[in-house]
Amino acid sequence: MAQYEFQGSTVPIIRFTEIGSTNAEGLARLARGEIMPVWLVADIQTAGRGRRGRPWTSELGNLFATLVLPNPAPLANLAQLCFVAGLALRDAVLAAAPQLVSETLKLKWPNDLLLNGGKLAGILVEGGTDANGRPAAVIGFGANCLHHPEDLPYKATSLEEAGAPTAPDRLLEALDLAMAVRLNQWHAGAGFAGIRSDWMRHALGMGDQVSVKIGEREVVGRFENIDARGAMMLRRRDGIAEIITAGDVSLRVP
Ligand code: ATP
Repeated sequence: MAQYEFQGSTVPIIRFTEIGSTNAEGLARLARGEIMPVWLVADIQTAGRGRRGRPWTSELGNLFATLVLPNPAPLANLAQLCFVAGLALRDAVLAAAPQLVSETLKLKWPNDLLLNGGKLAGILVEGGTDANGRPAAVIGFGANCLHHPEDLPYKATSLEEAGAPTAPDRLLEALDLAMAVRLNQWHAGAGFAGIRSDWMRHALGMGDQVSVKIGEREVVGRFENIDARGAMMLRRRDGIAEIITAGDVSLRVP
């Protein structure tokens, strides 16, 4: 059952006690012609997803929220939203849990937020066009406030585990404000140039040798930059630059 609520920002929040996926609900709303930004927030998701349909594991006490953004930007720039959102989420975590040390929070290309080396949160930007062919997007945030999975091939973590217990609603309140600030920076400020340099400052492995798995292929190189489409620019040992797009790619930092 959904209800409208306003919490200090101009973006209304629609709450669900349980939902399959807040992003799927957002995409359905865009397809039905939704024209106003809205937050869709669930206590629990039963079919949360990451990139390429990978599952996002849900438990009560974590944050599951999607910002539905009709008309966010020219379509060509939609990939940049993932970086806008990553920065906003990082800002929000620091605002909601001020006891955390900024350097312990790293953005992992393209869509994750790490805390003390463990995956704290993921972002999934989906979309393209609405029912009338206009640009539109949904930005899904899954953040581990209370729980984190123990059975992943890499370490996950939560704010609780880091000694910074934070209610999902407190994080959402901070995220709502942070998204407004970062979207404004993107639209009205220095555009993607400003977002990119802020993002790179907090990126895991920036300037280091990293390895990237693209299907069965592994590319090793120095992480030098991201381009305007959010692609990663790696300098291989033979001097050749490789541009890696965020398809089915996994970044590993030794
Ligand atoms: P990778 O780290 O392999 O590059 P990814 O960025 O592609 O991952 P996403 O697609 O964003 O990951 O998210 C899905 C993956 O996140 C799952 O395959 C699972 O490994 C991991 N995952 C699922 N639920 C959680 C959670 N609550 N906390 C941390 N990680 C999770």
